[in-house]
Amino acid sequence: MRVLRSIDELRSIRALSIANAQKVGFVPTMGALHLGHAELMKVASDQSDISIASIFINPKQFNSASDLAKYPRTVDDDLAICTACEVDYVYLPEISDVYPEGFDTSITPGSLGSLFEGASRPGHFSGMATVVVKLFNIVQPDIAFFGKKDYQQLAIIRRFVADLNLPIQIQGVETIREIDGLALSSRNAQLTKEERIEAPRFFEILKTFNRTFPNTDNLKDAIATALKHLQGLDHFQLDYFEIADQATLQPSRDISKPLVVLGAILGSQVRLIDNQELQ
Ligand code: AMP
Repeated sequence: MRVLRSIDELRSIRALSIANAQKVGFVPTMGALHLGHAELMKVASDQSDISIASIFINPKQFNSASDLAKYPRTVDDDLAICTACEVDYVYLPEISDVYPEGFDTSITPGSLGSLFEGASRPGHFSGMATVVVKLFNIVQPDIAFFGKKDYQQLAIIRRFVADLNLPIQIQGVETIREIDGLALSSRNAQLTKEERIEAPRFFEILKTFNRTFPNTDNLKDAIATALKHLQGLDHFQLDYFEIADQATLQPSRDISKPLVVLGAILGSQVRLIDNQELQ
């Protein structure tokens, strides 16, 4: 594993990969790596000739300076995880390469960006989309890997890749969870003891909903039951719970189409998101 810090280094690797007809796989991250990121990197190194991860805490996708300040920074541990996952390169961008002086352009998702997480975190998806497009242009991967844990993010990325004709294949990777079902997230460390004990209920409720879902006569009841359980959590407030089309994320009850159930709950310091593709 080699650490890269300059755009020129990435350009050389890309030129060589084209000359040798090698497929470049890319995993963008914000660091504080855990087994969820590790899974993305393992899948990337399995499915590519050259695998590249990046670690960049993108200031433009945080809603407040305090949220940005408290985001964990664990570069040494992160690099050890990247080595263990056998990625070939880790790109640590300089902030001035990503946001040079006078930077004044952004990618703003359309309707997909204002739903759900977008409603609670104004500007978040524009910041995310802008940095992902920039990283795509710097790394120029053939294929990029994103977690289904951030389902809306993945849907937005698929949308702008199609809309902007970016020549990159996007692959979603299943959510990696704690043994008790809680989706791994670098923000879980901010849960209080009581919240951490109750948090796995969130996934259980979504999973139970998914199990009852095929029985369409019961869809209304299943929604009411899930809502009741989510609203009954002691340490979290329900933010949203919705069934939506997997691609557009528009709320839908049309069971002939692929659907996903998406939810978010708020703890004292942290909001948790989770989802289940319905089957
Ligand atoms: P982040 O560092 O939070 O920006 O996440 C980088 C990538 O890791 C994104 O594609 C996330 O969706 C993915 N990711 C985060 N948590 C998980 C998880 N528990 N399982 C699978 N992928 C994840």
